[in-house]
Amino acid sequence: MRMITLTKKKIKRLTLAGALTAAAVAVGIGAVLTSVGTQATERLLPIYCVERGDKKISLTFDVAWENSNTQELIDTLGEYDARATFFVTGDWCDRYPEDVKMFADAGHEIQNHSDQHPHVKGANVNELISDTKAASLKIKDITGKEPTLYRAPYGEYDNSLITTVQGMGMNVIQWDVEALDIDGKPLPEPVHGLWSGFLKYTKGRSIHAPALH
Ligand SMILES: [Zn+2]
Repeated sequence: MRMITLTKKKIKRLTLAGALTAAAVAVGIGAVLTSVGTQATERLLPIYCVERGDKKISLTFDVAWENSNTQELIDTLGEYDARATFFVTGDWCDRYPEDVKMFADAGHEIQNHSDQHPHVKGANVNELISDTKAASLKIKDITGKEPTLYRAPYGEYDNSLITTVQGMGMNVIQWDVEALDIDGKPLPEPVHGLWSGFLKYTKGRSIHAPALH
């Protein structure tokens, strides 16, 4: 699987950045010379989706709240012989270690969704590192596997978050399709219904289904 960060959003941003640079140059070449350096700071992006030739999607769940759907999710995914990625918090590992084990034993991937679900944009780097590390340790304790992927709480990110997490040997994973239950609103269909609705999205789309928030 080839991991890429280029998405339509990024392409749009790049196009916009190009347009802004052109506009600045047009205003006055002499005046903008000193600010070019600061403007040139690249805005880093997490991985929104990957490029694939086959018709497959990535289904991810963010897990930070309660555990009432664990068995139903395992059963439903098993019914379709599908594997998902569960981004769990360290706090959730503390409260529901058996559930983490159930997901892992059913063949699903357990990855890092922070320890205490803090706001990470503009966060103190040392605090970010210790929060991230705490979650990875708890996950490894239960599953035996060190997480390699990180889903930022609230989907927030900035350059500091991305370089810090990458420096810890993990990739930051965002999503490009949202299951729309993040505000606590009920899903339009039962969990089973997700599949029929989502299967139209193909070729490496990353589906974010925060059903356990
Ligand atoms: Zn979350």
